[in-house]
Amino acid sequence: MSTTPNLATRDQQVIWHPYTQMKTAALAIPIVKGEGALLYAEDGKTYVDAVASWWVNLHGHAHPYIAQKVAEQLQTLEHVIFAGFTHPAAVTFAERLIQILPQGQSRIFYSDNGSTAVEVALKMAIQYWQNTGIPKRKIIAFRDSYHGDTFGAMAVSARSAFTAPFWSYLFEVCFIDVPVAGNEEETLKQLEAYALAGDVAAFIYEPLVLGTAGMVMYTPEVLERLLEVCQQHDILTIADEVMTGFGRTGHIFASDYLQRKPDMVALSKGLTGGTMALGATSCNEKVYEAFLSDDKRKTLFHGHSYTANPVACAAGLASLDLLLQEETQQHIERIGQRHAVFAQQFRKLPKVLEVRQRGTILAVEFEADGTSYFNKMGDTLYSFALEQGVILRPLGNIIYIIPPYCITDEQLDQVYQTIRGMQQLITGDRY
Ligand code: PLP
Repeated sequence: MSTTPNLATRDQQVIWHPYTQMKTAALAIPIVKGEGALLYAEDGKTYVDAVASWWVNLHGHAHPYIAQKVAEQLQTLEHVIFAGFTHPAAVTFAERLIQILPQGQSRIFYSDNGSTAVEVALKMAIQYWQNTGIPKRKIIAFRDSYHGDTFGAMAVSARSAFTAPFWSYLFEVCFIDVPVAGNEEETLKQLEAYALAGDVAAFIYEPLVLGTAGMVMYTPEVLERLLEVCQQHDILTIADEVMTGFGRTGHIFASDYLQRKPDMVALSKGLTGGTMALGATSCNEKVYEAFLSDDKRKTLFHGHSYTANPVACAAGLASLDLLLQEETQQHIERIGQRHAVFAQQFRKLPKVLEVRQRGTILAVEFEADGTSYFNKMGDTLYSFALEQGVILRPLGNIIYIIPPYCITDEQLDQVYQTIRGMQQLITGDRY
């Protein structure tokens, strides 16, 4: 009999996991291999990765093409300081991103993840106004948004239980309601009131889908009107496309549904197809030019050791190659169509409050069981899905699918079937 502890036990002895109450958490499930939309556990069990490993994976796990490009880059140049030096992968990736980003985006500033992409955008916006000699201080954001876990990103995110220990350290933000159906005019009024009061540097928003809020969706039409108000009052706009980018909503960017384009865009997650940690903030020439000066104090003094890591940029380039292939675009369409059919059938069932869908993102909101975010329902549904061989990490009483684009019809059916099982569990029709 072996006396070596298994991986889960070794993990428990040395690892502190994110978003996990370590005192009560179950042992982490050791995953030893990934292929397509499947993850293989050490004990031989397989899981359909219906949440694309925290919304990052686009083309399936351990994709051979990305692996090859990453290996080639590793053998050529693994990293180089990015102040005063550059390299082919960073430049080519920036050129290609600019080709597909919303019109007007002309500069790429690299960082390491979604939170830092947001930090950079906020710093650009605040310093933009200082550099132009009209310092404006206020930032507007949606009340329920999530932009990351670093301090600036937390400040512009919902004042949720997650950030409660830090509230007194966060800068003040002008929060407006999310313009969900029926609430559009009220949100517009709130934005206009802040805009008229003046001193607003920027409006940051998750375009069309607020992810962590529970895949809360609103229309391009109302966002268009919000951006129009910003334009009228000379307020910079920051589209946080960290989750919505790279095909998630059906178009390459959620901003593509709109005529008006943002001044800045924050990118991460799908930026490398879920392979390497990378963030990027793009901006237009208007923002960029405000930092060009003989006065060195107008420099954007921001950077990370791994800024523009060549291996991450190579992964990004490979992922972009795959994303733009006809076949991937067809998969995105296929998933959207199948989601729509499921949504149509499922929204009529008891205990189902709402089914929301845009492109490859589908969310089912069950009637809440009266408890908070830290509720039991989420835990129960999560465990139930795992038993069915599906990773569906709920947001409280909301279940969502945001799969790798290569997910097969059979795997999607398994996910839908699991969600049907959840509904039966909640209504008591099961067991
Ligand atoms: N912005 C949005 C819209 C997100 O959904 C997230 C993460 O979920 C972030 C920013 C933060 O990204 P990261 O977790 O890579 O720091």
